[in-house]
Amino acid sequence: MFEITFDVLFVGAGPASLSAAYHLKWLIYEHNKKNPDKPIQDLMIGVLEKGSALGEHILSGAVIDPHILDELVPMWRNTDIPIKAEIKKDDVYFLTSKGQFHFPIPPPGMENFGNYVLSLTEFVKWLGKRCEEAGVEILTSEPVKEIIFSDNGKVIGVKTGDKGVDKNGAHKGNYMPGAEIGVKMLVVGEGSRGFITKKLVEKFNLNNGCNPQQFVTGVKELWAVMPEKFSPGYVMHTFGYPMDLKTFGGGFVYHLKDNLVALGLAVGLDYQNPELNLQEELQKFKMHPLIKKTIEGGKLVEYGAKTISEGGHYSIGKLSGDNFLIVGEGAGLLNSKKLKGIHLAIGSGIIAARVIFDAIKSGDYSAQKLAKYDYLIKDGWIGKELFSVRNFHQGFHSGLIPGMINTGLQMVTGGRGLVDNFKVTEDYLNMKKISKNKLTKEKVKPDGTLTFDRPTDVYASGVKHEENQPCHLKIKDMSICVGKCVEEFGNPCTKFCPAEVYEIEEINDVGANGVRPSQKIQLKINPSNCLHCKTCEIKDPYNIIEWTPPEGGGGPAYRGM
Ligand code: SF4
Repeated sequence: MFEITFDVLFVGAGPASLSAAYHLKWLIYEHNKKNPDKPIQDLMIGVLEKGSALGEHILSGAVIDPHILDELVPMWRNTDIPIKAEIKKDDVYFLTSKGQFHFPIPPPGMENFGNYVLSLTEFVKWLGKRCEEAGVEILTSEPVKEIIFSDNGKVIGVKTGDKGVDKNGAHKGNYMPGAEIGVKMLVVGEGSRGFITKKLVEKFNLNNGCNPQQFVTGVKELWAVMPEKFSPGYVMHTFGYPMDLKTFGGGFVYHLKDNLVALGLAVGLDYQNPELNLQEELQKFKMHPLIKKTIEGGKLVEYGAKTISEGGHYSIGKLSGDNFLIVGEGAGLLNSKKLKGIHLAIGSGIIAARVIFDAIKSGDYSAQKLAKYDYLIKDGWIGKELFSVRNFHQGFHSGLIPGMINTGLQMVTGGRGLVDNFKVTEDYLNMKKISKNKLTKEKVKPDGTLTFDRPTDVYASGVKHEENQPCHLKIKDMSICVGKCVEEFGNPCTKFCPAEVYEIEEINDVGANGVRPSQKIQLKINPSNCLHCKTCEIKDPYNIIEWTPPEGGGGPAYRGM
């Protein structure tokens, strides 16, 4: 039935999937060394990645806790691993619009001293190369569009996207149907709000009894700064300005290597103000005197955006079932207080590899066998770390001041704070209607040197898609966009999308019969700009946008230098 069958197939070439594939190969190698008479041979292990090259869809400039690298690649310090610098100085500030308060020491749980800054894009390329050398088959430009289930409802394969389909659905000269690929074991590591992850969660009700996932969107720029302003291994985190008292969020500045500085803003998607423009907030952040002095005289190198799963402990559902596992951030493994998830992604990959290795040896990929993965994640060091910060993000749901009080209380109550397990709703339900919202956002006038409009930033992301293909952003009911959304929320998608994919435009043309259309505006979608951040799917107040994978190879082209 299938054109090809993999013993183990990973969807998404992020740090979790690649770590799992690499560790699995290592376990097989060790087994075969010890058991030459009973070797495990001829296993097909593959990775499908939607980007045209490894790392292109991975937003870079991150901090990693190195203990996990010792486990994954014990001799990593003697390799060409693209670590940028060890963190030597670590500051936390509270920002007002013109001033700042410096914390004498970082609040407990937010320290970064001894961690490393790295380019995640380069790290993924590096790990991918090691996987390929170990015999893992990595296929790029291959988005997975469907999961194939057996008659009794078990995962048995995936279908990749068609290529060469025009915007009306007709086949072009280069048409190639997607491949149906069989799997004995499917490992999904798509990152935040994964398309296939969502399908598994819905089909098997994996999040039953959990809080809905809570997201932030990170918007980030990479700058080449003047050498005298560069301090390798320096890390700064901020909160306060430009966020208002009701909006959760914070800034970061990471000094990487070769005068490159990654800076950005992470904004909680439970925000209320429909006027909030994430890219503009980043421009305001850069104009704060503390940040501005670093980038003055420098040059923008890259721009990007991604959502981050911050719900933590109470939002983590079941992570396994018959023939499948979910790893990394797609599983909700992220420490919201530290704003770090790479060590958890790699850790989950290593644990997944061990569980899969046992399954391979026994030939048993059943839900019962794979449930060990859930147990090892939730009762092991990952679960303990996430339990300690279980109320951090949710503690800010009522605003900055209650959030800070809660954070203080969490430090003396073992992570409990004022209330344990805040009942939170889906992020999109928190936006206030225009009439009820007294806040208006001050506008930024981009100067083209330190601050930019969205098109300039989007250009710096390197994003590209095949233009003539079906729109990958599906709007379930367009009449809402040009009807009640205008009145109630003022089309917030035109503001929160960090890539200006959505625009409201007036219709000036006259209909074919000489009659002016009754509708005077329309929602124009520019899918070619899409950075695959998924903010629109999460924050649209009517929950009518669905992000689907576009034709393989399309998307941002992060270089992450
Ligand atoms: Fe992100 Fe949606 Fe905009 Fe694409 S269209 S960049 S997924 S908000």
